[in-house]
Amino acid sequence: MDINKVIKYLNELYPHAKCSLNYSKDYQLVIATMLSAQTTDESVNKVTKVLFTKYKSLKSLSNANIKDIERIIHPLGMYKRKAFNILGIAKGLRNGIPHTREELMKLPGVGQKVANVVLAELYQLPYFAVDTHCARISKRIGIAKEKDNPKVIEEKIIKLVNKKHLILFNHQMIEFGRNICKAKNPECAKCKIKCSNRV
Ligand code: SF4
Repeated sequence: MDINKVIKYLNELYPHAKCSLNYSKDYQLVIATMLSAQTTDESVNKVTKVLFTKYKSLKSLSNANIKDIERIIHPLGMYKRKAFNILGIAKGLRNGIPHTREELMKLPGVGQKVANVVLAELYQLPYFAVDTHCARISKRIGIAKEKDNPKVIEEKIIKLVNKKHLILFNHQMIEFGRNICKAKNPECAKCKIKCSNRV
């Protein structure tokens, strides 16, 4: 598959694609992205609205009672682990948000994907976060192999896509995966990519 054809099509479909997690302060993005593991951004936005309204600063969050955080984020699943991570992140970010992936990944619950989202969103650095949509689409359109893990897919995409376009392309792929190239019943009839895996 010619990646330029995919880029052109996604530019037509989603010229203004952006991060769908709500946040008003930088540290909130780190927490929201960590919370988005194994759930939807929509679900995360619902709980962070409550969480960040109740705990309005990093300091208040780092002093919060873990049981109260667990209660608030319960709908997301893995709530005990995630509540523990929230407290750890709140304490770990007291001196600001790191600018490197290595530093970010020292925070609890922050792996490569979360770190990539944060660096791209907050600092506009050319990182690409491979979520479930990006992994599925990359395999379907043939820029990744079925056996490739997210790190391998990330490396392949970084080699293929111009750095200047990487962040937008990341958001576009996610939109495309939510709306057209869905996990179940992809809407191939209306998709212009017409990959060999279309149904
Ligand atoms: S043709 Fe179907 S499977 Fe291929 S990219 Fe389009 S929606 Fe996805």
